[in-house]
This record gives sequence, structure tokens and C-alpha cells, in this order.
Amino acid sequence: MNVHGSHRSNTPKPLKVGIIGGGIAGSTIALRLAELGIDVELFEEGSSLVNGPPICHLHAGGNLYREISDQQCLTLLQQSIDTLRVFPHTANIRPTVIAIPERDAGEPEALLPRLALLQETYHGLVQQDSKNQVLGEPEYYYKVYYQDDLERLARSDTPSEPKNLDDWMIPVAKNLNLNEFKFPLILVQEYGLSVFRLAATAGLALEQLPACSVNTQAKVINIQQNESQNHWSITYQQYDASIKDHITHSTDVDYLINACGYRTGTLDDMADLHRTRMVEFKAAFVTQWKERDGVWPEVIFHGERGTPNGMAQLTPYPDGYFQLHGMTEDITLFRKGLVSSSAQSAQPQLGSQFIRKLKEGWQNSDIETRTDRAIQHMAQFIPAYRSATVGGKPLFGAQQIPGDDPSLRAADISFAGSRYARTEIVKASSALSAANRLVQQFKNEGLLAGFDDDLAMALEQRFPVTSGLNQKDVITEAEKLASERSYPPALAQLVRF
Ligand SMILES: Cc1cc2nc3c(=O)[nH]c(=O)nc-3n(C[C@H](O)[C@H](O)[C@H](O)COP(=O)(O)OP(=O)(O)OC[C@H]3O[C@@H](n4cnc5c(N)ncnc54)[C@H](O)[C@@H]3O)c2cc1C
Repeated sequence: MNVHGSHRSNTPKPLKVGIIGGGIAGSTIALRLAELGIDVELFEEGSSLVNGPPICHLHAGGNLYREISDQQCLTLLQQSIDTLRVFPHTANIRPTVIAIPERDAGEPEALLPRLALLQETYHGLVQQDSKNQVLGEPEYYYKVYYQDDLERLARSDTPSEPKNLDDWMIPVAKNLNLNEFKFPLILVQEYGLSVFRLAATAGLALEQLPACSVNTQAKVINIQQNESQNHWSITYQQYDASIKDHITHSTDVDYLINACGYRTGTLDDMADLHRTRMVEFKAAFVTQWKERDGVWPEVIFHGERGTPNGMAQLTPYPDGYFQLHGMTEDITLFRKGLVSSSAQSAQPQLGSQFIRKLKEGWQNSDIETRTDRAIQHMAQFIPAYRSATVGGKPLFGAQQIPGDDPSLRAADISFAGSRYARTEIVKASSALSAANRLVQQFKNEGLLAGFDDDLAMALEQRFPVTSGLNQKDVITEAEKLASERSYPPALAQLVRF
């Protein structure tokens, strides 16, 4: 292996891969291929990588979604463990509390068999390879708390730094009106994931990998395959700062990866490769709660999605910043915010009110209204939260969901036509799986001749540059990206205890 992490074993193979879209899916594939030594050209319309919809939860076990299958949860567990091994500086390590309000039809006991399954599976993965222990000791993967446990914790002093699972529950026990919940409450090792530190990791690692050339501010406007179907021609417009205008360029590649996120269908249409998918527009709200007491875990209050009682989610960051989701149409979800592809087009069409937000951002009045609703929604469960204020602009965007099941959470990549793949991740932690399946596909198609077979290697060895980045550099770059994108730098900082 050379200093740049290339696994090329003999004469370079002139395979060139074009990746369109530098979100977490496209960037992870670029990292995977460039670490392998394959020539990659990445095209991203925005000015930096991973600048699309928010990524705030790792979903290591899918515990935030009680409606998905056990199999999806196990897939997300494995994918999340892999993600933390390859992107070690991107997790916000604090547990999540799951609380079911009295008014909700669900029962906490119904969640316990799945938690036991996840714990057993995690334990097995750690026994297989100790590097998989990224979610703490398997025996502490989750813990249940009954009313008398919480009443006891509510009488304890709030620690300035939580040292064990019970410490994390103290602010929750003190602030919730316990008579309004079903028991037990559950504490589980579901962590946060920082979109800014993912962006920083992708940018810094790709800079060090000579096999990848990254074109930012480069919008692909056409793709065309040659007659023998072994080349693609990519036409893109790139901003040129020296003339303050866009210049049209074109380049040829041997394999094309469509990683355009919610706009994946636009390229499918250009390639005439139809696909059924949905696109959903959603937003999370940035608040600041200066009067908070102690260090908070994530807390989710279950509720029926899309109704006024939809789930409320409190996601902690440093300096009293909290991100809120409220799964109602007035807060995180939007009326007509979920759209589907048609027989004529693989690209679902969002209404103009969403396109305006995606292109131009939010009006201040909209920010105030929806953030205030999110605060009131949270204050139903944490009454003291009423004193929180708007902490910044919303984290928002549109995401794709392949197929026609809007509850699908674990998906990765699909292949169509010749030398064409499209990433279809719903959660960021599925990006590595998409990259691995692509490498396997290259292998199946005989495109990896001349490269070492690295599929049997440890994950860290497949990503020596990415996994070897320095934590301080990643945080500094992430803070810079947060500021450039007009978010409080606290959202980029480490939450780790
Ligand atoms: C409110 C909200 C909260 C979320 N929370 C989480 C969470 O907690 N955890 C989680 O894992 N996931 C979360 N998601 C989902 C997650 O954001 C997406 O699944 C993920 O970002 C998809 O990554 P991607 O790389 O496929 O797409 P994107 O991030 O959308 O990247 C696609 C990229 O392609 C570029 N592009 C598109 N067309 C072109 C073109 N023609 N030329 C050049 N570039 C182009 C775009 O500029 C964009 O950067 C959330 C989504 C939303 C909306």
C-alpha cells in the first residue's frame, strides 16, 4: 500500500469513475474508491461536500422508529458500527431516552424484545471483533427505569458530567411530569451523528487522496452513454471565480454513479432508466435553552407520526443548543411534503413552496413560527422548555426513499442499465454499505483487475486516510463549515462523555 492508501497491486487499470453528488453517499463512495486507488471524479453543485439535508442521529439499532422491522434495525446497527469505525470523529456520544406518554397507544414493554435482540447481536459483533465496540459495553446497551427509580433519581443532585447511565437520567427524572408517562422509560446507546464533522471528514480525507478529483460548484446538466455502453459523457457547468461566471465542461468516465440525493430521478430520467421512489421534505429546528439543568441525553417522546401528537425529539449539543423534531405537519413534516415518482418520470416533483426553501432558504417569519411550535410541542413533556428560544435557522432538506414504502429506513444502492449505479440511502450510516456493494459489483463485472481484493480487510485498513484523520483537524474544519453555512459552531462541536 502506498502512502496515499492505494491498494493498487500492479499496472494501473484505466478505470475512471464519475460520481455525481457529493452528499454523504457520493462522498463515501469517492473515499472508498480513492482509498483503493481507483480514479474518481466527483461533481458537487454546492460549494462544499455533505451540504444537503441534516444528519443528526446515527440510528445504531433504529430505536427511534418503533414501526420498522427487526431486520431493518439489525441492518442499521451493523451499518452504524461500521460508520463509527471509518468516521471515528463524527459521533456525538450520549445516550437516548425513549419515553411513551400516557396519551399514546404504544406500550414500552413492546419495545423490550427488540432491544434484547439488538443487545445480543451487538454482543456477538463485539465478540467477533473488539473494534466493533463503539457503542460502549454491550451489557449497558440499554437499561429500563420504572417510576420509583426515576423518583429516586429526581431527588439526586444533577451531575455536571454524567459518569454512568443513572447520571444521564437525572435531568430527565427532574424535569418530566412522571405521572404523564407509561413505564418503563428506556435509556439506550443511540448516539448523535454530526453532519458538519462528516462534511469535514469527507473534505479533508479527499484532499489527501490523489486518486480523487473533487469539483465543487459543478452542476451536471447532462449525461450520455456511448453506443457500446462502456463510457459515459458528463456535461457540467462549473463556477469560475476569475470571470464570475459558469463555464460548461465535459468529461468521459467508464462508470457513472448517480448520488444526487432527492434529485436522483433527474439523472435517471436523463439516462432513461426508470425507478419508483418518493421524496420527502422535512425540517428540524435549532433552539437554545439557556436555563437547562445539567447535561442532557437525547430524549424522544413517542407519538403517532403525522398527527398533532407526533413524536417529539430533543437532540442536545454544547452551549445549551438543542435541535427539535416534532413529527406533526406543523413542525417537521409538511402538508404535501411527501411526493412520489410517476410513470413518466423517476423524479418526484415537490411543490414550489419547498423548492423555494431549498433554493433560497427560509423567511424569518417561517423560522419563528415553526421553531416556536417545536418549542411548545416539546414543552408538553418538559414544561421548563417553554423558556427556550430560536437558536438559528432550521436544519432542513429533502431526502429520497426508494420504492413506495415511506417507512423504509435501511436502503443503499441499486444498479440499472450498463455501468450505472444510483445510491438510495435513507440514513447516512447506509453509505458505507452502498460503497461496499459497489466495489463488489465492480468485482463481479471484472473491473477490479489490477487492484488488490480488499473486501476481506479490516474496515480501518480499507480507509486508512479517512479513519486516520486527526480529531482536532476535523473539529476545526467542521466549525468552519458550520459558520460558512450560518449555523452556530456549537452544532459542529463534540458531545462526548
Ligand atoms: C429533516 C431531516 C432530518 C434528517 N435526519 C437524519 C439523521 O438524523 N440521520 C440520518 O442518517 N439521516 C437523516 N436524514 C436523512 C439524510 O439527510 C439523507 O438520507 C442523506 O443526507 C442522503 O444523503 P445523499 O448523499 O444520498 O444525498 P444528499 O445529501 O442530498 O446529497 C446529494 C448531493 O447531490 C448534489 N447534486 C444533486 N444534483 C446534482 C447535479 N445535477 N450536479 C451536481 N451535484 C448535484 C446535491 O447538491 C447534494 O449535495 C434527515 C433528513 C432530513 C430531511
